[in-house]
Amino acid sequence: MLPRRSTYGRTRVVVIGMGDTGVLVATHLGRSFDVVGVSTKPALVSGQELGTRLADPDLWRRNYLTPLDRFRRLDRVRTVHGAVKALDTDAKLVEVADAGGALVSLPYDVAVIASGTTNGFWRRSEVEDLAAVEAGITEVATSIDRASSIAIIGGGPTGVSSAYNLAKRRAGLDVHLFYAQDEPLPGYHPKTRRRLIRELAEAGVHLHPGHRASVPAGSPTDRLTTAPVEWTTGQEPFVADLVLWSIGDVQPNSGFLPREMLDEHGFVMVDEHLRVQSHRDIYAVGDVAASDPARSSARNFGYRVVVRNIRRAERGSTKLVSFTPPKYRWGSIVGLQDDGMVIHQPNGSAFRVPRWAAQRVLMDVLNRTAIYGGVRSGRRTSR
Ligand SMILES: Cc1cc2nc3c(=O)[nH]c(=O)nc-3n(C[C@H](O)[C@H](O)[C@H](O)COP(=O)(O)OP(=O)(O)OC[C@H]3O[C@@H](n4cnc5c(N)ncnc54)[C@H](O)[C@@H]3O)c2cc1C
Repeated sequence: MLPRRSTYGRTRVVVIGMGDTGVLVATHLGRSFDVVGVSTKPALVSGQELGTRLADPDLWRRNYLTPLDRFRRLDRVRTVHGAVKALDTDAKLVEVADAGGALVSLPYDVAVIASGTTNGFWRRSEVEDLAAVEAGITEVATSIDRASSIAIIGGGPTGVSSAYNLAKRRAGLDVHLFYAQDEPLPGYHPKTRRRLIRELAEAGVHLHPGHRASVPAGSPTDRLTTAPVEWTTGQEPFVADLVLWSIGDVQPNSGFLPREMLDEHGFVMVDEHLRVQSHRDIYAVGDVAASDPARSSARNFGYRVVVRNIRRAERGSTKLVSFTPPKYRWGSIVGLQDDGMVIHQPNGSAFRVPRWAAQRVLMDVLNRTAIYGGVRSGRRTSR
């Protein structure tokens, strides 16, 4: 029989997945709990801002690729580089295959599922070292360097951000954005959608509404493709040097979980406190959690709800906080630009943070210090 508490008498929390939300949960619980984070990569490889990652990989790395050993608050957190293979809710064990191939059993009092989604070549769930992550980013950027035209399929935030950033930052690249509806960015406020149409056109993006692509066999989202794109909406095939399929081909990373925890699409069913239904000691947050129709708990600070509720439950409180998402999606869409960063609000208004403030205040100080509790500068070898 495993002891209920760690040898230090502290509650054991296992965080499954150290992406955008898992790192936030672990950094905020590390001081008062015995936290282990399971991570497929030895770094936080953020799911944010594909456009910047394609168009300006060095800027993206600065803000969105951070080796885990640079987070000061993770000094107290044990990280296991590997993938979770099973969650045994009877024995309260998280079963992990580590990067060296060994099987590790992690006992938990509380588990947090933050394993995110797989979505194209830019969000993969396989176990990789930092060199492999870096090589993937460089390979894609190099093929874009060689291209003179690109077709981007899909008008969600990933497609819009990619089109905008490539048009702005890659002189000589002819950028075409195709989407099935009249306007891109479904789920955003109508004013936001119209504003982005104007900005894309001003940036030189060729806009193609009313185009629904015929998706070729063989997972085209896994790479940039080169074959002509065919349309189910009747237009002539379109030829470009490269094709980026940002068609929302999102698959939850949940295959290791008991089926009864998942909805019909494989996302984790949670209550308003982001607790897994019928398991009071398991939470789910981020893109893998079916928290609301847009599954928006990552960008809407769901980690705070989870952290507070774990603390409250630890104190014996039954008054848990609830997750309440806004009606429309919000946030930055095209990321950091020469003139700053525009944050779109749920009500359709927007404000611009000047460039100096966006990098130094928003990204370096607020993000790194206030949100993560300090990030060391420079590159160090990760644990
Ligand atoms: C503070 C904040 C602000 C944001 N702002 C914006 C914004 O302005 N605009 C915008 O578009 N989006 C924004 N987002 C949202 C963001 O685009 C995604 O929603 C977010 O990256 C999803 O985070 P995640 O932790 O759920 O998944 P991920 O970041 O994908 O992390 C999941 C991790 O789990 C790993 N994993 C998968 N399977 C396993 C396994 N079996 N075992 C162990 N690990 C596994 C994955 O490899 C990955 O490393 C924001 C998010 C945050 C946190």
